[in-house]
Amino acid sequence: MARLVMKFGGVSVADGNRLRHVGDLVKQFNRDNEIVLVTSALQGVTDDLLACARKAATEGIVSEVIEFIEKLTDRHNQAIADAINDPQIAKEVQETVAGKISELEKAYIGICYLGELTPRSLDYISSYGEQLAAPILAGVLRDMGIPSQAFTGSEAGIVTDSNYGDTRPLEKTYNLIPQRLLPLRGIPVVTGFIAKDEKGTITTLGRGGSDLSASLIGAAIDADEIWFWKETSGVMTSDPKIVPEAKSIPSISYREAMELSYFGAKVLHPRAIEPAIRKGIPVRVKCTFDPDSPGTQIVHDDVQKKDVIKAVTLHKNVALLNISGAGMIGTLGVAARAFTALARAGINIVMISQGSSEANISMVIEERQVEKAEDALRAEFSRDLVKEISHDHDVCAVAVVGAGMAGTPGVAARVFKAMGQAKINVVMISQGSSQHNISFVVASKDAERAVQELHREFGLGGEA
Ligand code: ASP
Ligand code: MG
Repeated sequence: MARLVMKFGGVSVADGNRLRHVGDLVKQFNRDNEIVLVTSALQGVTDDLLACARKAATEGIVSEVIEFIEKLTDRHNQAIADAINDPQIAKEVQETVAGKISELEKAYIGICYLGELTPRSLDYISSYGEQLAAPILAGVLRDMGIPSQAFTGSEAGIVTDSNYGDTRPLEKTYNLIPQRLLPLRGIPVVTGFIAKDEKGTITTLGRGGSDLSASLIGAAIDADEIWFWKETSGVMTSDPKIVPEAKSIPSISYREAMELSYFGAKVLHPRAIEPAIRKGIPVRVKCTFDPDSPGTQIVHDDVQKKDVIKAVTLHKNVALLNISGAGMIGTLGVAARAFTALARAGINIVMISQGSSEANISMVIEERQVEKAEDALRAEFSRDLVKEISHDHDVCAVAVVGAGMAGTPGVAARVFKAMGQAKINVVMISQGSSQHNISFVVASKDAERAVQELHREFGLGGEA
């Protein structure tokens, strides 16, 4: 009897049919295991909730809010009708959902009148996607004869700081969760993504935060494994949209998984597996549409494959930021000032490179932050120190990831030889000293081809 935490993403619970499918899957694994479920909102609902809030704040049209609320109600009622057979259970769930939606409607109307939207109210509004999904999923399980109860993240013991929009769980969460959920009675269905702060205000763990919820719960109740059910076949060697022969990776280490997530493979947010790492709990990424395949196991030890590279990823929405000037040579503190100025402006730096001539520092940042970043640097530096500040939007970052490349000579040579042969110009290079990852920047027009070439070079699709 293993104890499993299973998290289902929005695509897996998109509608009544999918919710029923989740029920079937859970029923199958419930025979030999103890299970806690964590659910996302129905697919797209979080986006819809936020879009409606922004519109309400800028335009303030109450009738539009009401129209949106009607659609939201219909969608959830349809899911209930499709997924739950027992009329009594369906009625109960419908009442719960209706109650939540009427709270939400009040908040929207408030926003219409106030014309303002704070990070705190955005957290409040966006929490409703999961609050609506969890009671439906619990109802589906009861309908299948499995005792189940819905919990909000905060009812399950998740407490965060009050940094609305981007909160972090507090340490005491780890003690509270077992008090709230253990001993398990039936299958608890916990809302992902949402929590409360110590004042009792609803908070969220940031977009995609349901994974973190699952990981926190798994770590706190000493789960044997945490399973993330996704629509893809586990963690892939590359994006199948770019590389059709991409395959699921059977086993990777936490470190490799983190490197992959940083570089655009939207598998698991690095923050999301931290609690699992802390307790050494194996994580598994499984495919909802292919439940019998083992998916990808993410474990503590680096699984050194004979192939040094596990995956090739592409990060498209980046830009290259450059500062240069002869005045920078030998001047102390230029890098520190640049990074501090960027940090103060809230700019996240993805990659850094400075050649030993010191006349130039290049950074890769998120594309949407490029103007803000340039402004921050211009305000920081005088022209005689930093002569030129420039950027290039039209670039992508490619990363090859694998623990096996640490200490293996010749990997970089293979990477760049493949680029040379494909006549792809490499604009900037960075390798962290972890040697788990070589990242470099190419022009956007070459990016997909670069990924395809590397995938082939390292035989990741199983080709020779
Ligand atoms: N529903 C939230 C989002 O769309 C959280 C999640 O799905 O993980 O970001
Ligand atoms: Mg770009």
